[in-house]
Amino acid sequence: MESASPRPPANTAPPPPVRSSRSASRRRTRPFRAIQSVLGIGILLATLFTALPSRGLVAGNFYERLSIILTPQSAQAELPASQPQVRIGIVAGHSGNDSGAVCLDGNGNVTLTEADVNLKIAAMVQEQLIQKGFSVDLLREYDTQLNGYRALAVVSIHNDSCEYINNQATGFKVAAALNTYDINRANRLTACLVDRYQHTTEMNFHAGSITADMREYHSFREIDPSTVAAIIETGFLNLDREILTKQTDRVAAGIVEGILCFANNENIVPTPVSNVTP
Ligand SMILES: [Zn+2]
Repeated sequence: MESASPRPPANTAPPPPVRSSRSASRRRTRPFRAIQSVLGIGILLATLFTALPSRGLVAGNFYERLSIILTPQSAQAELPASQPQVRIGIVAGHSGNDSGAVCLDGNGNVTLTEADVNLKIAAMVQEQLIQKGFSVDLLREYDTQLNGYRALAVVSIHNDSCEYINNQATGFKVAAALNTYDINRANRLTACLVDRYQHTTEMNFHAGSITADMREYHSFREIDPSTVAAIIETGFLNLDREILTKQTDRVAAGIVEGILCFANNENIVPTPVSNVTP
């Protein structure tokens, strides 16, 4: 915030009237002398108005107005509606880099890639957050903008394997960045994402399989340490394929609700996140 320069009073007294010359009140018998006097007064007044600095007789208000115009504080005061937007970064996992996990059909052809699913979800999250009044950057996996990136929060969106592992390979995972100034806020972002995503999608939180890879995710090292970050794996491309591809807006809404929970300091019930060890 800039400190404001002292502001002049809004209303100033009108400038004192110009004194009429004493010579004007004198009566002269000879017309020539009278003309001389009038001319003299005229010349004197003209010289005064020209030579006086404009701060003098009439321009005081102009100076005051100019100083108000040139003071940044008053310009802001005239725009009460324009509040700075809160910035959020959304990373579309693998975007611009590689395909991530892939789904293959019986002939070995790719039917779905993690990168495509991630990008579709990320774009919906961006759109929904913009509608809520946020300023949202949609970022690629190795986006140069991530270097020293500053925002209220960064959420990186990924998805898990498309191979069938077992019937438990379903649900979502969330992990916070560990290299943050404020681990409590990072854990709060994680807790918000877990709670709201679970509530919105009715998917299971897959806490047990959060890996060190997630917590030491490269984007976390690139962003400014004051930026709170988390990575979410929104589901498994195999068993959760239906909701991920057919109800993508619901998946995106789960992430949006989690970010709103964090941004608005909403109440959340404690989650098992803090008990998870890498
Ligand atoms: Zn991934």
